[in-house]
Amino acid sequence: MLIIHKYGGTSLADSTRIKEVAKRIKKESQKGDDLVIVVSAPSGMTNQLLEQASEICTTPSLREVDMMLTTGEQLSASLLSLALQDIGVDAISFNSFQINMKTTNTYGSAKLREIKSDRIFTEIAKKKVVVITGFQGINEHNDFTTLGRGGSDTTAVAIGVCLNADMVEIFTDVDGFHTADPRLVKNAIQVPYLSHSEALEMASLGAKIMHDRSVALAMKYGINLHVRNSYNDNKGTIIGEAKMEEIKLNGVAHSNKNALINIMGQNISSATIGKIFTRIKDLNINISNISKTQDADNYQQISMLLESDENIERFIKYKDEIIQNKDNEINAIEINQDVAKVSVVGFAVRTSGVFAQIWQELTSNNIDILMVSTSDLSISSVVKLADMEKAVQILHKKFFETANSI
Ligand code: ADP
Ligand code: ASP
Ligand code: MG
Repeated sequence: MLIIHKYGGTSLADSTRIKEVAKRIKKESQKGDDLVIVVSAPSGMTNQLLEQASEICTTPSLREVDMMLTTGEQLSASLLSLALQDIGVDAISFNSFQINMKTTNTYGSAKLREIKSDRIFTEIAKKKVVVITGFQGINEHNDFTTLGRGGSDTTAVAIGVCLNADMVEIFTDVDGFHTADPRLVKNAIQVPYLSHSEALEMASLGAKIMHDRSVALAMKYGINLHVRNSYNDNKGTIIGEAKMEEIKLNGVAHSNKNALINIMGQNISSATIGKIFTRIKDLNINISNISKTQDADNYQQISMLLESDENIERFIKYKDEIIQNKDNEINAIEINQDVAKVSVVGFAVRTSGVFAQIWQELTSNNIDILMVSTSDLSISSVVKLADMEKAVQILHKKFFETANSI
């Protein structure tokens, strides 16, 4: 069998952890399986590097930032390879350049396009454990690119796809997916099985245990994932095909990288609104929710939710352009970054009454719901950032900890 392991930053935080991971890999390789290992930078390193770049330069060039960030994963790959060699396991590490891991050109959020697997297979045929840097690739100029924060999971799945692996195991610092982030909810329950779409919804709505694109890729290619703890041998979460007609709730996800935008004015024309949204599209700003209201005096308000720091930064720059444009009817724009999105996830949100219960639970605990959005698989409430933790705990208690939970 050919098995991919991916180890996240906390699993490789220091020499002791790296040696522990090496021992696990040795045990697995002694079973006779071929192993390809994908690694993240040691925990905290990516943040430290970004901080250092911003100490040195106010607006660091994205190319140089990617050049810098790829060093974290290279450090992990070489140290793990050395740790393996030290305990008698033949290992070799590669960065993305050495295995021609091609991506699109966009620094900071590149998409994987192609991985040349011949060099990896050559080393596997020599019975070597191959250790590969996650999170990075090279673009058409042969410059390093990165895939976006948390992107090593996506590298691991992409390598699994290219090598036609039998299993992709994602090792992290918790026992797989839980019904909420165990750091926020002490009674969070470990989930043994999720379908790809359920895991994708949780990850897209903020459950950072998996990079959402890694789950989308696994779903596209029908690959099963096993998300588990690198600190123990517990069974983790299998992510695989949907089980027929299973209607349940999977968990509560949260995300704090949001901004609520209100654009206000009297008699705003459709042409103005059209121009604003076209410009938003041209500026590559993704909007996840839009609503428009108007009162009897035709005073209008367009509200939208932005997710991710990049979208918010781009909108902040664009705000002055809208306000300074004297030809439009916009009076004011509010940008509220002190908001968070708290989502109840699972097919059972379609059953009646789930939203009524969310409303009741949050408002009776003095938590204002500023905006609501729904999908087939989730109901998301935007709340004040200060209320986020409490909202996650209250909703988890309601739907997962009480006798009448769904
Ligand atoms: P790694 O460094 O291994 O990639 P991450 O920090 O990216 O690890 O992801 C693991 C973390 O995800 C956990 O420590 C946990 O706090 C967080 N997390 C958020 N939501 C969930 C969830 N629903 N289930 C499990 N972990 C979650
Ligand atoms: N080191 C990168 C990050 O911190 C990639 C990853 O951890 O997956 O975002
Ligand atoms: Mg991660």
